[in-house]
Amino acid sequence: MGLGTAAVEGLVSAAESACRFCSAPLTQTFVDLGLSPLANSLLAEEDLDREEPRYPLHAYVCGSCLLVQLAEQASPQEIFEDYVYFSSYSDSWVEHARRYVEQMIDRFGFDGDSSVVEIASNDGYLLQWFVERGVPVLGVEPAANVAAVAEAKGIPTAVRFFSEQAARELVDEGRSADLVIGNNVLAHVPGLNDFVAGISVLLAPDGVVTMEFPHLLRLIEETEFDTIYHEHFSYFSALTVERIFAAHGLRLFDVEELPTHGGSLRIYGAQAGSETHADTGRVAELVERERAAGLADLATYAHFDGRVRAVRQGLQEFLEGARTEGRSVAAYGAAAKGVTLLNYCGIGPELVQYVADRSPHKQGLYLPGVRLPIRSPEHIAETKPDYVLLLAWNLKDEIVEQMGHVRDWGGRFVTPVPKVAVHE
Ligand code: ZN
Repeated sequence: MGLGTAAVEGLVSAAESACRFCSAPLTQTFVDLGLSPLANSLLAEEDLDREEPRYPLHAYVCGSCLLVQLAEQASPQEIFEDYVYFSSYSDSWVEHARRYVEQMIDRFGFDGDSSVVEIASNDGYLLQWFVERGVPVLGVEPAANVAAVAEAKGIPTAVRFFSEQAARELVDEGRSADLVIGNNVLAHVPGLNDFVAGISVLLAPDGVVTMEFPHLLRLIEETEFDTIYHEHFSYFSALTVERIFAAHGLRLFDVEELPTHGGSLRIYGAQAGSETHADTGRVAELVERERAAGLADLATYAHFDGRVRAVRQGLQEFLEGARTEGRSVAAYGAAAKGVTLLNYCGIGPELVQYVADRSPHKQGLYLPGVRLPIRSPEHIAETKPDYVLLLAWNLKDEIVEQMGHVRDWGGRFVTPVPKVAVHE
C-alpha cells in the first residue's frame, strides 16, 4: 500500500496531538485501525485508476479525562465537501425524529411562543415535525446543498458551522433557544469545547438541550470498532460527557439509552443555575454502571485493541474458508462502518464480490479503499450468494426481513461483530 502525502501529514500531526477536551497529550492507544480512506468518499468508475489518500485511523483514550478520540488529522473541510447524506432517505430515522418531537412537546410543553434550534439540521427531517405542530424553529447546517433542501420545505436554515461565535451571533439576532437539539453531531465536532460553549451561550436560562450520540459502553461491550471512522472524532461515555458539559456551565438532568447506531445515549441538559429541570437520578445511575464496567479505569481501554484484532482474525478465517469451499459472499450496506471493517480486515473483491445498498445515489459507485462495487439489493436475488455479510449489522432485523428470500436458495446471513456469526 502506497503512503500518499496526506497520510504522512496525518502521521506527523497524530504524534503531536492533545486531548480535544482537556489538552493533555494523547499517548495511550484505544485501538489502532491502521491507514484508512475517508469512509464517505465513495469512488466513481473513473476514480479507480487514482490512488486514494489514506489517513491513520487511530483512537486514543486520554489518560487524564478518559475521553476516547481520534487524533486530529483529516480537516473537516475535506470531509464536508462531498457530504451527500440526506437524512430523509432513511425511513426509520425520520420516524425516530417524529417520535422524539412528540416526546419533547409532551414533556416540556413547547408551543408557538417557543424557539427550537437544531444544530446540523440536515434536510429538515426532524424540524419538519415541530413546524407541523406550530413551534418556531431554526436549523443550523454547514452543507449549503442540504440546507437548500430544508429551506425549500419551509424550514428556516442558517448555513454555518456551529461554534461559540455562531451562537453569539444567533443570540444577537434574538434567537436564544428554549430547546437546542444535536443528534449525531457532538461526536463529529473537531472543536469540542468551542461547540459546547456555544450551546451554553445559545440556551435560554430555563431551556433544555438534548444530544444523541453512540454510547462508548456499548462500543466496548459489543466490540463495535467499525463505528470508528475519520468523521467521528469523539466517543463518549456518560462519565466523560457529564464532565465536558459541566466545564461549560451545563448540568445533565436526565439520560435515555436508545437502540440506534448500535446503542446510543440521549442526554438532557440545562443551565447549571436553572432550577426548572429536576435531576431524575438516571445520569448518576448510568455513570455508576459505567464505573462497574471499568470505564473509569485506563486498563479497560488498553484491552480493546487485542479484542478487535481477534474479531479481524475470526472474520478473515471465515471468509477464506468460504472461498476454499467455493461459496460466494455478498455484503449488504455501503455505510461508513463497512468501510472501516473491510479496510481494517483487508477484505476486498477476492473475498466479497460486491456490496448491495438501497440508496440509488450509491449504486454504481465503489467502496473506498477495498473498492467493492455497490449494487442494488435486487442484484442479490440475481446472483444468489451463499452468504450475505451484514455490514449494517445495526439494521439486521430490518434487512433480514426485507431480504428473507435469501433463505429460499439456502443463503445465510452473517454478522461480523462482536464476533463473526452465521444466522440460520
Ligand atoms: Zn483529556
